Amino acid sequence: MRPRGETGKNSASKELETTMPTSRVLVTGGSGFIAGHCILQLLDAGYEVRTTVRSLAKETLVREVLADAGMVDGGALSFVAADLTSDEGWPEAVADVDFVLHVASPVQPGHIDNENELIIPAREGAVRVLRAARDAGVKRAVLTSAFHAVSWGHPHDGHVFTEADWTVLDGPGVDAYAKSKTLAEQAAWELMANSSTELVTMLPVAVMGPVMGRDVTGSNHLIQGMLNGAMPATPRLFIPIVDVRDVARAHILAMTTPEAAGQRFLLSNGPAIEMTDIAATIRARLSEGTQRVPTQTIPDEVVRAAAESNPQFREMLPDLGYAKKTSNDKARNLLGWSPRDAAEAIASAAESMVKKVLGAQ
Ligand code: NAP
Repeated sequence: MRPRGETGKNSASKELETTMPTSRVLVTGGSGFIAGHCILQLLDAGYEVRTTVRSLAKETLVREVLADAGMVDGGALSFVAADLTSDEGWPEAVADVDFVLHVASPVQPGHIDNENELIIPAREGAVRVLRAARDAGVKRAVLTSAFHAVSWGHPHDGHVFTEADWTVLDGPGVDAYAKSKTLAEQAAWELMANSSTELVTMLPVAVMGPVMGRDVTGSNHLIQGMLNGAMPATPRLFIPIVDVRDVARAHILAMTTPEAAGQRFLLSNGPAIEMTDIAATIRARLSEGTQRVPTQTIPDEVVRAAAESNPQFREMLPDLGYAKKTSNDKARNLLGWSPRDAAEAIASAAESMVKKVLGAQ
């Protein structure tokens, strides 16, 4: 089977088009940032795409957002309603699908009173989607896990994190989001251990890049806070960054590369970047909208003192002043993945927010 775009380019392939079925891909959570970029790239490559939203009332908005982000023809895109916390809709979502990209999951790093608000939809949702995929005979499922399932709870000993590492659930600084991603990925591997549906998991570091519509989600919040003045100075935190367009590309490579079956892939790009350098990149790369981007850093002792009463500062303590190291060798070598510079992810995130989000506030 092949994507539709690979057929119909000349008379020989036109002939094939009449005989070769189209590959259909289910992308869960079509309203999301990473899922949106996956959908755009899949449609561009000629796949037929089905996506889930919690309510079909969102379809019009998602179509508008995708069109604004460059979707030329939405004719090959369809929608099904399904929530990660319910069985309803998933059999329809996976019916006659060749591949599943399970991207949807609640994203909320930091403190949360009831951890199960994240853990249950993440873990039970992953099991629900993958079980449905397996029962429907889907060829391969790609699960969007996270660096949060790799590097949390470890000592600061200069270790270079790879796909061999797992978050230590009872280690220091492990928040509900890191638990949700780790438990969801572990449940996925357990469920699919002897399945004929192949599983691949993706482990992106902080994903930044062009926003989808006016919604700012995930790690892009950090850029938003620098632009809108919510972050007047930067703590000494180091963020490993990858561009959302490269994350989407990696998902498609993971879906189509035969050797990727049964593998995890760490999606990182170069060393973690200190927040003050992220701010400097925004100032250097943008010609407008940078008036509030911070120029000052917050000394560690000030962060520590503030952490005694402020939970936001408390969350910074485990990684204050420490840059985690990562290797992307496996994705480069096995998938042939080649991510763009992290500065590009930062600049394009900031530019898109200045244009679409801040101007609209
Ligand atoms: P996002 O924009 O917030 O997208 C999350 C998606 O999950 C949304 O479509 C959301 O739907 C859906 N969702 C949440 N709870 C759901 C539920 N109970 N039922 C059905 N759908 C639900 O975040 P994102 O950054 O694109 O994240 C996508 C995936 O990448 C997640 O698995 C996340 O853990 C992973 N990831 C993200 C980053 C990052 O830096 N952004 C890094 C590593 C891994 P609604 O629109 O209805 O809320």
